[in-house]
Amino acid sequence: MQLYTPIPKAGRVFAMYARRLKKLGLTKLEDFLYHVPFRYEDYSIFSPIAKLQEGETVTISGTVEEMKNDYTRRFKTIQKAKVFDQTGTIEVIWFNQPFLTQYIQEGTRINLSGKITKYKARLAMESPEYEVLNENGTPIHTGRLVPIYPETRGVTSKWLRRQVYTILKSCKQNILEYLPGSIIAHHSLMPIFNALEQVHFPTSREEATNARYRLAFNELFLMQLASMKRRGEWEKMLSSHPFSISKYKRNIEHFWQRLPFTLTDAQKKAVREIFADLAAKKPMNRLLEGDVGSGKTVVSAIAMYLSHLNGFQSALMAPTEILAQQHYKTISSLLSPFGVKVGLVTGSRKLKMENRKWKMDILVGTHALLSEKIRFDRLGLIVIDEQQRFGVKQRASLRKKGIHPHILTMTATPIPRTIALVMYGDLDLSYLDEMPRGRKIVKTWLVPPEKRESAYGWIKNELRKHNSQAFIICPFIEESETLVSVKAATKEYERLRQEVFVDLKLGLLHGRLKTKEKDAVLGQFRKQEFDILVATPVVEVGIDIANATIIVIEAAERFGLAQLHQLRGRVGRGEKQSYCLLFTESKTESTISRLKAMETMHVGAQLAELDLKLRGPGELYGTMQHGVPKLRVANFSDFPLIEKARRAAKDTFPHLASHPLLVEKLKTMIVDQVAPD
Ligand code: ADP
Ligand code: MG
Repeated sequence: MQLYTPIPKAGRVFAMYARRLKKLGLTKLEDFLYHVPFRYEDYSIFSPIAKLQEGETVTISGTVEEMKNDYTRRFKTIQKAKVFDQTGTIEVIWFNQPFLTQYIQEGTRINLSGKITKYKARLAMESPEYEVLNENGTPIHTGRLVPIYPETRGVTSKWLRRQVYTILKSCKQNILEYLPGSIIAHHSLMPIFNALEQVHFPTSREEATNARYRLAFNELFLMQLASMKRRGEWEKMLSSHPFSISKYKRNIEHFWQRLPFTLTDAQKKAVREIFADLAAKKPMNRLLEGDVGSGKTVVSAIAMYLSHLNGFQSALMAPTEILAQQHYKTISSLLSPFGVKVGLVTGSRKLKMENRKWKMDILVGTHALLSEKIRFDRLGLIVIDEQQRFGVKQRASLRKKGIHPHILTMTATPIPRTIALVMYGDLDLSYLDEMPRGRKIVKTWLVPPEKRESAYGWIKNELRKHNSQAFIICPFIEESETLVSVKAATKEYERLRQEVFVDLKLGLLHGRLKTKEKDAVLGQFRKQEFDILVATPVVEVGIDIANATIIVIEAAERFGLAQLHQLRGRVGRGEKQSYCLLFTESKTESTISRLKAMETMHVGAQLAELDLKLRGPGELYGTMQHGVPKLRVANFSDFPLIEKARRAAKDTFPHLASHPLLVEKLKTMIVDQVAPD
């Protein structure tokens, strides 16, 4: 067994489970070890049978005297065993597990863990955890703190426990300490093998906590060290072309004058930061974060204009064809008055090139930009919109088309600063934390249950008065949409149609519809064939419907603030005043005050940060698209540990070369961080 063997290649059983395991984020054998339990069942107290008392949770160790299948009237089965030790005998039953008689037979030595109950007036164990004792095997399912893991369909904690145990045992020699001894000593960390062993099979709760601390430290340390390494490589790569700004001052002023609006202060600050990068000797590597509508495009346009003035080309990559076309239009209208020539390349729109090279000034496109066929003459600046939608490899392959080009990535995903620091430590950050003036904010109200009826009345009135439309988002039930959500949404849709909005036309959108059907429903909504669109939360209502001015979010307390903010962004795209109504049945004070923040806060990253503080990081992941690495052990809200790990990484970085095992470890991490596309 090798730690880095991909699961599908690790033998028949693993191969069979590979797809299910991938759902849990496990792709190589080592991942099992870092799939840490979220709690432990305490089965560590052993009791002689004679001393058992009703209600206690214990382990007994004994021998099977009898085991049989009994059949009940309704074709169900009961498994009945008698187990004895030196002090007495107890009856044990299981339900509907007829196969148990294969493992548990007369004479089998066995551990049983669970709660002592009464069965037909006598003490018994009902459906206990069982473990057949071998000559030399250590019990892992009973008689100790037993790990309980995040599971998925067909992958139980019991199965996972067995695999972890086997992998730990057979890979012991390959699990080498890679953290520098000085760090281990300074932070009193458990050695890596012990930490892995203790996090899964702890000898005490205290040891489990220590193990977890070590692994969390590890994770944050490695992530930050990896980004320092990337940044170091970046900085070594001296750019061959710092852009001149002073030479083109006039042109730039002219550009500002022609804009139909003045920049927000946040935009001005971002432009200053970007210009400083572009004028420096090393290539820019900056992330521009700002909510939808905060005006990222014009900031990128001025950077591309400066690139052009300096005699360089730029490329702008977007994740979808629609976005690419939109950018093409915007950039052309902003820059062609200044003689800049812009082109577009997408999957369905090929490009004519001179001598196999792109000679014009700016090329906007989708993934099609990555094609080998597209070569640039003098590519000096790359802009990537919605950067999290692209993998590291894709970004790198675009970068190779230039000579150390400057890179500006952009995202509308609300990432709190602290998280961005850990994940994107190699990037410089600019935030557009301000919306253009005059933009109407979406008025937001938290609606308590007693006001629900009048809210419905208000919506009816509002839709009629302004001839506008509304979204109603059903409660968030599950991460990936199965029939349960669809049923709930359908039921709500029927209720609203038949009992609430009787005179209006309603449509229904959920994740189980085929793409074509979804497009059809959205198309109808756009054409105003419906007044109200009832939708499940997982459905990305990603298109602009300017006439939609109201969004209702049911069971708002189940969403993170950043998520609510993104949903709220579906309205407020047109001229009319828009509204967001958050329904909640919750009476909990902390929940109410958390949701109230939506009424006053309107910047995604700030809401995300608040969420992180109030609820921890779990809720954020729903908001961030894939490509964002999940932490397995550590916690993004554990600021002190992030800080400690950061300082340790900083101290280690200059001497990295003298820790070859650490260097190896980092290599495997960098492979992990290539987003699955
Ligand atoms: P995003 O950050 O979502 O990419 P865009 O760049 O598409 O936002 O900008 C959204 C809209 O706001 C565009 O129509 C753009 O012209 C306009 N806009 C950008 N900056 C300003 C500003 N400072 N004042 C007014 N409108 C602006
Ligand atoms: Mg944009």
